[in-house]
Amino acid sequence: MIDRCGRNIDYLRVSVTDRCNLRCIYCMPEDGVELVDRSFILQEPEIVRICRVMAELGIRKIKLTGGEPLVRAGIPSMVEKLKSLPGIETVTLTTNGILLKEQMAALAGAGLDGLNISLDTVNPQCYEKIARRNQLKNTLEAIEEALKYPQVSLKINCVPLGIEEQDLCGVAQLAEKHPIHVRFIEMMPIGYGREFTGMPEEEVVRVLEQRFPPLIPYQGERLGNGPCHYYTVEGFQGKIGFISAVSHKFCGDCNRIRLTSQGFLKTCLQYTAGRDLRAIIRDGKTDEYLKEAILEALSEKPEGHAFLEKARVDKTEKLCMSQIGG
Ligand code: SAM
Ligand code: SF4
Repeated sequence: MIDRCGRNIDYLRVSVTDRCNLRCIYCMPEDGVELVDRSFILQEPEIVRICRVMAELGIRKIKLTGGEPLVRAGIPSMVEKLKSLPGIETVTLTTNGILLKEQMAALAGAGLDGLNISLDTVNPQCYEKIARRNQLKNTLEAIEEALKYPQVSLKINCVPLGIEEQDLCGVAQLAEKHPIHVRFIEMMPIGYGREFTGMPEEEVVRVLEQRFPPLIPYQGERLGNGPCHYYTVEGFQGKIGFISAVSHKFCGDCNRIRLTSQGFLKTCLQYTAGRDLRAIIRDGKTDEYLKEAILEALSEKPEGHAFLEKARVDKTEKLCMSQIGG
């Protein structure tokens, strides 16, 4: 699918739930989380139908996300169904890892291609401060378990918050000890993320280089589907990556759209632009009608975010990341 800016959109992020077993400070409120009634959340056959139609239109890669996708029952079976759709090349999952250990074998058996495990720190006190839950042990055990399945590519995602106890070097060390890539994701001013400044890429590089050998830009074959750029570090088995949506805007190369757990097709993280696909499906409309709605939404996909613009930007997203599906 080519959008109005000539971008090839072949990547769909599908949020399967707005529920989560953590309360990360930049993503969700501590209390009073507004959860939608389950009847509004897309059922598995609805998700599979939308993905089938998307594949017919040119989507090749699907990532399951949330909320926390593994709090929803039946994810391995959903992975298997999505993998079998004609045109779909990869199905991956992003998770906080808490429930991963016990589901890893089933996910690998279902044909999962890749896993992103979110881990902001390996310091237990800091983990609890950021995630508002004491679950670091589970995530670390899940990483060990996931390493037993080399056919499932593994990446660690970390959002630097600019607090010293976070010990970014401790997280980066996972790429030294194991053949996994560690990616630092710049905080985006979305939802509760607006309350944090985070750390730009250059600052993270400086912190890492105080402890490790210099980071050397990686020029080899493309790794992954997205905007991450990588560095090699001498002695490290994995690479260090950066997704710097704010300081190194990459909207010109955007290849993705998002489906929220309620079935709203979002064409840009920052804006409300999109289409309610759930309404179309539940109104009994045909696949052709659904395709037209998707293409129409795509023809209105914003050119890029305006995170750094001071002026008020119209129709910006008010939802938090766990509701959108980050
Ligand atoms: N619960 C799963 C997880 O944590 O991986 C999937 C959903 S979570 C919303 C997906 C990713 O979005 C996580 O890596 C999280 O750190 C990131 N994220 C959430 N809010 C963010 C923000 N404001 N800026 C940048 N990344 C954010
Ligand atoms: Fe949950 Fe992921 Fe948001 Fe943390 S970042 S609160 S784990 S959805």
